[in-house]
Amino acid sequence: MRPDPLKSYGCQTLDEADIQAVAEALRGQYLTGGPIVRNFELALERMTGAAHAVSCGNCTQGLHMAAHVLGAGPETSVIVPSVTFLATANAPESLGADIVFADVDPENGLMQPEHFEAAVRRCPSRPVAVMPVHLAGQVVDMKAVHGIASRHGIKIIEDAAHAIGTVYEDGGKARRVGDCSFSDATAFSFHPVKNMTTGEGGAVLVRDAGMAAKLRRLRSHGMVREADQFVDGDAGFDKAGDANPWYYEMSVPGYNYRLTDIQAALGISQLAKLETFVETRLRLKKKYDELLFPYADIVRPVKASGNCKPAWHLYIVLIDFERLGTERSYVMKALLENGIASQVHYIPVHRQPYYKAKNPDLKLPGAEEYYARSLTLPLHVNMDEGHVERVVGTLVKILGGK
Ligand SMILES: *Cc1c(COP(=O)(O)O)cnc(C)c1O
Repeated sequence: MRPDPLKSYGCQTLDEADIQAVAEALRGQYLTGGPIVRNFELALERMTGAAHAVSCGNCTQGLHMAAHVLGAGPETSVIVPSVTFLATANAPESLGADIVFADVDPENGLMQPEHFEAAVRRCPSRPVAVMPVHLAGQVVDMKAVHGIASRHGIKIIEDAAHAIGTVYEDGGKARRVGDCSFSDATAFSFHPVKNMTTGEGGAVLVRDAGMAAKLRRLRSHGMVREADQFVDGDAGFDKAGDANPWYYEMSVPGYNYRLTDIQAALGISQLAKLETFVETRLRLKKKYDELLFPYADIVRPVKASGNCKPAWHLYIVLIDFERLGTERSYVMKALLENGIASQVHYIPVHRQPYYKAKNPDLKLPGAEEYYARSLTLPLHVNMDEGHVERVVGTLVKILGGK
C-alpha cells in the first residue's frame, strides 16, 4: 500500500522507469566514475542552458566547492540570507570565512537587493561572495543582486536547492535557473524532498570552463590525470616523452565529492519528468491559492516574487498566530492529529546557537517576522486536488475560520 501523501510535506515521486534505470546502471560496468555521470551532467546543461554542469554528492558539497573556488576562506566575508537551510551558511563557514547574514522580505523570505547592500556594509572582512537562496522555488532579483555584486567585486553563488525547473524572466526572455546569466555558480540539490531526486545528490552549474575544471579537480581529491597539466615533468613523463601510465598529480588538495553512476541513472530518468513535476506542483499550488482566498484575513500564501514562473518546491503560508490567539506548535500538532504533516522553512540561521554566539546583537526584523508567521503545507507530486481540499479544510477549521 502506498503511504498517505499527506504524511509528508514533501517527498520523492518514483515510477517503474526510474527503478529500471537504476537496475540497468547496477548491471553496467561502472558503479561510479563511469559515463552515466557525464550523461547526467550533459542533460543538466541542456535543460538549464549552463555551459558546464559538475555533479557532486549533494548540494552542500556543491556550495562548499563553489565557495572554495571563488575564494571564500579566512579573512573574507560571505553574505548569506538568514532564512535558508543550515547548509548555505555552513559551506563557507567550514572554509573559515566570516558569515554575514542578510535580512529577507517578511512576505516571502527572499533576500532583496537592499538587504544584500546592508549586509555588505556589515562585513568585518573583504566580501568575496553572496549566496542568494531561491526560497520555495521563487527567484531572488538576480539582475539587481548582480549589479550590486559587480560594483563591490563580489562573486555570486545561487543556492537553487529549491528551484530546479524555475523559469525566470530577463528583459522579455525566458531563462532557466541554473543558466548562471547573473551568477558565477548555481547549486542544485537532488535530495528526495526536492523537485527531483537521485537519493542524495547535487550539482554545480557554471559558465566558466576554468572554474568547471577546478570544481572537477576538487571533486576528486585534487587529482590531475591530464598530461598537458602536469607540473612535475621529470616525474610525469618517460624518456620518450610520453606520460607515465600510472602517473597522477596533485597541486591543490581536494575531496571525494563524487556522484555515483547509480545515482546519475536515477537523475537522468527523473530529469526527463521534471517538466511534468513542475506542472503538477503549479496546479496544486493554484488549487491551494483558490481555496485559501476566502480566508485571506487569517491565512495567505507568501507574496509572489513576480519575476518568474516558479517550480513551486514548497507551499508556504503566513499566519499571524498571535493575533489569532493561538500558537504554531498547537496548529502543527492539530494538523498532525488529522494525518497532515507540516514544517517550518526555516528557523533563521543567525538564531542558531553557533552563529548567535558570533553575532549576539544582530537583529534581522524581516527574517524574524517571516519566521514568526510561516508554515509549510504538504506539496508534492503524489498529491491531487482532493488532498489540497483536505489540508485547507482542516487548517481553516483549526484556525477557527468561518
Ligand atoms: C536541501 C537544501 C540544501 C542542502 O542540500 P543537500 O543536497 O541536502 O546537501 C541547501 N540549501 C537549501 C536551501 C536546501 O533546501
